Amino acid sequence: MQIGIIGGGPVGSIASLALKLMGHTVRLFDPTTQKPKMSLALSETTLSLLENIGVQPKAGQDLVEILVNEKGLPGSMLLNAPECGHSRFGRAICSHELDRILTEQVADMVEPVAVTQVRARSTTGNPRIELETGEISEPDLVILADGGRSGLSNSIGMDAQLRSFDRTALLGRIHVEAPVRGRAYERFIGTGPLALLPIDPEVYGFVWSLAPREAEALKQATPALLDALCLALPRELGRIKLVCDVVKIPLIERWIDQPYRPGIVLLGNGAQTIHPVAGQGLNLALRGVSRLVDALAMGDPDTAVREAFMSWKPNRDLTRLASSSLETLFDRDLLSRKLLTSVGMALGDQSSWLKRKISEAGMGIIS
Ligand SMILES: Cc1cc2nc3c(=O)[nH]c(=O)nc-3n(C[C@H](O)[C@H](O)[C@H](O)COP(=O)(O)OP(=O)(O)OC[C@H]3O[C@@H](n4cnc5c(N)ncnc54)[C@H](O)[C@@H]3O)c2cc1C
Repeated sequence: MQIGIIGGGPVGSIASLALKLMGHTVRLFDPTTQKPKMSLALSETTLSLLENIGVQPKAGQDLVEILVNEKGLPGSMLLNAPECGHSRFGRAICSHELDRILTEQVADMVEPVAVTQVRARSTTGNPRIELETGEISEPDLVILADGGRSGLSNSIGMDAQLRSFDRTALLGRIHVEAPVRGRAYERFIGTGPLALLPIDPEVYGFVWSLAPREAEALKQATPALLDALCLALPRELGRIKLVCDVVKIPLIERWIDQPYRPGIVLLGNGAQTIHPVAGQGLNLALRGVSRLVDALAMGDPDTAVREAFMSWKPNRDLTRLASSSLETLFDRDLLSRKLLTSVGMALGDQSSWLKRKISEAGMGIIS
């Protein structure tokens, strides 16, 4: 099958490599864009997909433990991979490192041009791509993996539902005095969730979801940010210092229920951008890529796209719900809510069955 892929971010690049491996002829278009450096938690299912296409990230650290708790409250839940029956939950890696490896792998496939127009399949012909050079291409299937950046999906009537979380994420890196190898943290502070991922032996990447005004104030004043981080972080990590500039990203959910038209399918952030607190955006998108690659081996492109989305839907909907609910669940600064979540976490920590289910949902093993 001839496949045109628009966008060489992680989703477009990985889809290109996986489809080429299945024998399809792929053209990948991306004029390249600078993206912020962030820390990514790649789940075990994402790592298997990467391994299948010959990508084995050496940088970063395996995730073996995730400690979930709320600042100032006694209850906590420690998810430990071997106790849940796995050697690791996944791997934390810097997004630029993943981009670097993928850029190398797709170097001979990518054409550095922007796509200016797309058209769905009609009764008379294949879907159509128009490049900024004026060239027209008419493959059997177009995969739009533009990250929702280009407006091409709107031009074919795929309008996304946009919902602001009224939150801004601050992203950065810290050097810590007493790291715990392989342990990630999901910490609820009262002002918003803070996720910490071990990127290097003594360096953690953080994503902190905050009210926009608070995020802006902290971004402007490094000493205030350091003080706030010291108060928010678990004590066991010891003293900290910032090791890079902090980046600010407004958090908006973008969602299209059926992101496909005849001959065209939208994958990745363009089809769904979810809350980053659970570190699932890319993992979720790649679960969709895997379903599509498998389905395309069986049938015509439009049937394959429909079937892939139908089989992926329960997992897609659940991941969206879980990611948005975490922020809301811990958002209320009420004593009754705090007592409930504290007791809930303490009880949950006693249940191996629950901990296994939570970790496997995060790993994308169950829907
Ligand atoms: C704070 C934060 C933390 C996150 N943490 C995690 C995590 O821990 N784990 C996880 O799984 N996910 C995480 N995510 C989500 C993850 O970063 C995204 O899901 C992923 O980057 C989306 O990749 P993409 O390829 O869809 O889009 P992008 O990376 O945006 O790529 C889109 C590409 O399309 C190209 N393009 C655009 N327009 C055109 C055009 N007209 N023609 C040709 N090319 C075009 C662009 O140049 C770009 O390269 C996080 C997100 C945020 C914001």
